[in-house]
Order: sequence, then structure tokens, then C-alpha cells
Amino acid sequence: VVKKSGGGNYRIYEETMERANSYRFGLQSDFKRALHDEEFYLVYQPKVNANTGSISGVEALLRWNKNNQELIPPADFIPLAEETGFIVPLGEWVIKRACEQNKQWQDAGFTPIRIAVNVSAVQFQRSKMDEIVERILAETGLEPQWLEIEITEGTLMVQDEFTIRSITRLKELGVIIALDDFGTGYSSMQYLKQFRLHSLKVDRSFIQDLHEHHDRAAITEAITQLAHGLGMSVVAEGVEKDEELEFVKSIGADEIQGYYISRPLSKEDFESYLQSDSKVS
Ligand code: C2E
Ligand code: MG
Ligand code: MG
Ligand code: MG
Repeated sequence: VVKKSGGGNYRIYEETMERANSYRFGLQSDFKRALHDEEFYLVYQPKVNANTGSISGVEALLRWNKNNQELIPPADFIPLAEETGFIVPLGEWVIKRACEQNKQWQDAGFTPIRIAVNVSAVQFQRSKMDEIVERILAETGLEPQWLEIEITEGTLMVQDEFTIRSITRLKELGVIIALDDFGTGYSSMQYLKQFRLHSLKVDRSFIQDLHEHHDRAAITEAITQLAHGLGMSVVAEGVEKDEELEFVKSIGADEIQGYYISRPLSKEDFESYLQSDSKVS
């Protein structure tokens, strides 16, 4: 579209684009190599029942140990993986790994728990999530009720055919669907009515220091009532302090997740957690 020949601006534009393209290309091959070299791995953060404190589920969170020397947080590479499309194979790897792991825990005799994975809007748009999940469940032998998919308001907002169909089919399969980071996106009541999801995770930004911020507490309470009114369960995420825990319990949140309970754990540490949890009950 830029046709101005000989113009300095065009050359700068061209060079910038070239650099951006080769950056993306480099990244894409970096991602591929990393997946091949097993630099990606999952960590596991427990969710507990708000009343009993015993484990109710676990969320798998992706980590990248780049070149085995630099730990890159998901906030830094997920957006790039989405931009390059690499999120599709990477996301598939995450689901496979999580299902496989959960099945192993069940086979080892741990109390069965649900494992949650995060799936981004791009994954729903660019691949057939329902077919991918169905195949992975068959391959790993995990029953659908032990898999939970965390989506965001952004996923529901797109309203494309692929996404709507996939979410509907995943629910039909018996997979649990949660709405993550609730309250940070468009939070349309229309989506809640249309999709009838299983649970809603109140975003950490509302939980943080809510005992000192009336507005956060009010929003958290209202979201909880709304979700319960629609038959959804409520997870308070990012609980770090006593006061936060007491408040979310007092308003009837069903599950708690956050550093107060546990940070995301390695596979080995999570297994110890599981073991001590089942000894208590
Ligand atoms: P999320 O799904 O909302 O996950 C919660 C994030 O908050 C995690 O960060 C977790 O480590 C952190 N967190 C949990 N409890 C606390 C707390 O009490 N205090 C604080 N300050 N933080 C807490 P993490 O692991 O860095 O992940 C960030 C985001 O990256 C996730 O947010 C999710 O949106 C995305 N993500 C992670 N793994 C995957 C994945 O496999 N696929 C996709 N598509 N996205 C992923
Ligand atoms: Mg999540
Ligand atoms: Mg979240
Ligand atoms: Mg989040």
C-alpha cells in the first residue's frame, strides 16, 4: 500500500517491518525448538473448598525455562505465542500434559481432583478445541468431568461460530468450563445467560486488600451473588491474606485459590501437598 518510491519514510517502514518479521520468525522457530527440547513444563496451584480447606481442584500453569537458564513468565510469552499462532500446538501440549498427569495421579490412588487449564481466545478461533479435547481425553483415558477449561470474557466476546460451537460441545462432552479473571473484561450479563458456565473466578484485582477497599469488597460480593443466582460456583483467586480469606468465606465463595493456600507447585511438591491433604481428611 505504501507506494512512495524513494521516500525516506518508506525505507524506515520497510526496515522496521523486516525486523519485526524476522523477530517473529526467530521467535516462531525458538518456540518450536523449545517445545521439542522440552523446555516447557507445568506447575500446579491447588484450589480448596472454602468451608473445609481440603483440595477441590488444581490449575495447571505453563512455564518456559528458556535454554534451561532463563525462566520466562507466561505473561511475557503467551501474547507472542498468540500472535504467531504457536499457541495452538503449545496449548494442545498443555491440555495433553495436564490430562495425562491427572490420570497418573488418579491411577496412583490419590483422591480424584479436577485439573484446570487455561485456553485463550485465539485457540478457540484458530483450532477446533472440542475435537482436540475429545481426542486428548480418549488418548489419556481421563474422564471429562476431571478436566476444567478456564476461558476469559474475551473468548465469549468474539462470538464467532467456531468458539460458540466448541464451548457448547465441550459442555456436552461433560468438561467443566470456568470463566477466569471475571470483572476485568466486558463482563456482559448476556454471556452469562447465553453460555451457562459452571463457575466464575473473581479476578485477583478485586480480592487484593478488599478489607481496605470498600469498592472491591462490594464488587466481589455482587459477583458472588450473581454467580450463585445463576447456579454457578464461585472461586476467589489471588487470596493472600487472612482478611481476604475471611471476607470471601463470609460472603459464601465456594473455592479459594491464592498464595495464602499455596503458590503454584512443581509436580513433586504438588504430590506432597496431595498426600498431606488426604491424610488430614
Ligand atoms: P490466570 O489463569 O488468571 O492464573 C493466575 C495467575 O496468578 C498465575 O500467574 C498465578 O501464579 C498467579 N497467582 C495465583 N495466586 C496468586 C496470589 O495469591 N497472588 C499473586 N500475586 N498471584 C497469584 P502465572 O502462572 O504467571 O500466569 C499468568 C497468566 O498466564 C494466567 O492467569 C493465564 O492467563 C496465563 N496462562 C498461564 N498458563 C497458561 C496456559 O497454559 N495457556 C494459556 N493460554 N494461558 C496461560
Ligand atoms: Mg486461570
Ligand atoms: Mg485467573
Ligand atoms: Mg489472570
